[in-house]
Amino acid sequence: MEEELKCFQCKGELVKGYVFASHRVYWSESEKPAFMDERSAEILIKMSVFKMRKVPAYRCEVCQLVTFSYG
Ligand SMILES: [Zn+2]
Repeated sequence: MEEELKCFQCKGELVKGYVFASHRVYWSESEKPAFMDERSAEILIKMSVFKMRKVPAYRCEVCQLVTFSYG
């Protein structure tokens, strides 16, 4: 049985879904504009040429937070 996940902020119910992007999804610890930040930015989700990769995710609609695993 799948454990019900709760929002870490409001402890409310999370909605299961998928995150996808038509281009890559990046992560950076810098606030610098993206065009100045190419060296330290890490690609979390790579784009496939043939189909957009969907990544399982959990969303809290109250807090507008999305949690997903990029592994
Ligand atoms: Zn929440």
